[in-house]
Amino acid sequence: MAPNKFDYVVIGAGAAGSVVAARLGEDQGTRVLVLEAGPDDNSIYVRMPAAMSYPLTDKRRTWEFETGPEEALDGRMITHVRGKMLGGSGSLNGMVYVRGNPRDFDRWAEDGLKGWSYAHCLPYFKKLETYDKGGNGYRGGSGPIAITSLKAELEPFQAFLEAGQQAGHRLNADYNAYRQEGVHAYQANIDNGIRASGGRAYLRPAMRKGNVSLQLNALVHKVVFNGTRAVGVVYEKDGAIHTVEAEREVVLCGGAFNSPQLLLLSGVGPASELRALGVSPVHDLPGVGRGLQDHVAVSVKYRASRKGVSPAVDMNLLKMAWIGAQWMFLRRGLGITNLWEVGSFFRSSDRMEYANIQHEFLPMLGELMHGQVNIEEGFQYQVCLGRPRSRGRVNLRSADPRQHPSIVLNYLKDPEDRRDLIDGVRHTDEIIQQRGWDRIRGDAIVPGLRNMDDRQVFAWLQKNMGTQYHPCSSCRMGLDDEAVVDEQGRVHGLEGIRVVDASIMPRITNGNLHCPTMMIAEKISDDIRGVVPLPATAMRYADQAH
Ligand SMILES: Cc1cc2nc3c(=O)[nH]c(=O)nc-3n(C[C@H](O)[C@H](O)[C@H](O)COP(=O)(O)OP(=O)(O)OC[C@H]3O[C@@H](n4cnc5c(N)ncnc54)[C@H](O)[C@@H]3O)c2cc1C
Repeated sequence: MAPNKFDYVVIGAGAAGSVVAARLGEDQGTRVLVLEAGPDDNSIYVRMPAAMSYPLTDKRRTWEFETGPEEALDGRMITHVRGKMLGGSGSLNGMVYVRGNPRDFDRWAEDGLKGWSYAHCLPYFKKLETYDKGGNGYRGGSGPIAITSLKAELEPFQAFLEAGQQAGHRLNADYNAYRQEGVHAYQANIDNGIRASGGRAYLRPAMRKGNVSLQLNALVHKVVFNGTRAVGVVYEKDGAIHTVEAEREVVLCGGAFNSPQLLLLSGVGPASELRALGVSPVHDLPGVGRGLQDHVAVSVKYRASRKGVSPAVDMNLLKMAWIGAQWMFLRRGLGITNLWEVGSFFRSSDRMEYANIQHEFLPMLGELMHGQVNIEEGFQYQVCLGRPRSRGRVNLRSADPRQHPSIVLNYLKDPEDRRDLIDGVRHTDEIIQQRGWDRIRGDAIVPGLRNMDDRQVFAWLQKNMGTQYHPCSSCRMGLDDEAVVDEQGRVHGLEGIRVVDASIMPRITNGNLHCPTMMIAEKISDDIRGVVPLPATAMRYADQAH
């Protein structure tokens, strides 16, 4: 019979859960169980960076949430895919590797979370990575996650970098170091042509040691409490219900939608709302599920003026087999790239203290997100609002753990968010008019964006904007009454339970979330183990408040 007592039970084998389980397992004799709702990540489509759109439609390996209706978007619903497998969303994401702006973390500290300043986070950012250009004051040289600097050699990537500079943005050699702002070639968590997820880089090696075990296809229903102390977890596997004891702690790493849902299912949340759904309250904590944030994204698209600009056009089985063979045997060709090879960070206006818009860029038209290989010649700038103010919420619909929660993001509800995104879109179209694009630029899919009035641009945004898939902050870390966890991820008012994942970010960071989520997991793992935290490292950065 499988043991049913562990020191730690970690819920979710995603970006954060993989790191936490591996670090806790470093203490000999510590028994760690990881419960993951989905299957393993054994798929060529997970491993091969260029195939990343395929896992997004693999129903076994994804959660498909519907969020909305979104009031500011005329009641639209938005589909939110999340990873449900070993590695979590890190096993299907775009692999774009961004820490965030150092200023984001200093703002967390200014809000009272003193141990989360950039100086305190930097050693943990360094700890998790092996940067291909070598370690230095800013970068790590020997961590589990391999970081590849993308080459950006294709003609449209070069045009992107050229036009950005012509529009006044400096070329930035490393946006994860001194300065975030500028145009750049992206870095990606790709290890010699293979996706480097938390699952592959942390959890799998940890499991070989014997004291970290993993149950796949195990859907956690709730955390069990004895008074205010978490003592175990109830989960479902193969149609049977199991209970497992956690002698030290339960660590909830289910991600920004599932972690608040699980707290609520376990009786932790606004007591009156829980009672109304037939859940007995364990602890009245009004902030659970509140404060949810996400990055809004919209694509500005142009056709190419001629053929031969975009890769992967006219894809057929033979071409795909060739790409696959090159990837498999030589680790080269289109298969080794995530195709998001260039981007930028800039301010939507001079009012901004630091960058609040991110560009991601694809050298082709057609949605990469749904396994589609129907690519057309052209290019698209994805304009992402990096520091939105709007906040949404996650609520239970029912006490049934198999039913998805109700989620509303309140996208663009805050008028400042509209302002910033409209400015960002206009500036994007200005960049595309620079000389650098003259050799390639064809017709705009939406002509004249930069000349439309605000009302027209907003109407276009309402219909066309989507998500960058970065939900967070639904179990916010903080000291105020609506905060859910303290500086070490401990749930306020309870013992033996922490939340460690993207849901605890006090505010969203300016950039993609996989890397900062793993940093959070590295940092809190030291707290859980009771080891001395890595000393703060005060490296200067460009946007420092004076
Ligand atoms: C399509 C897409 C593209 C993205 N692109 C990028 C990118 O290019 N760069 C980047 O930095 N970030 C990207 N992200 C975001 C990034 O992947 C996430 O922010 C990050 O993985 C969040 O980590 P997490 O640990 O909070 O949650 P996750 O990694 O999602 O892990 C949560 C895990 O918990 C499991 N779980 C949940 N509930 C239960 C339960 N009840 N029982 C058992 N297990 C449970 C889930 O199955 C999952 O495996 C992308 C995300 C998506 C979806």
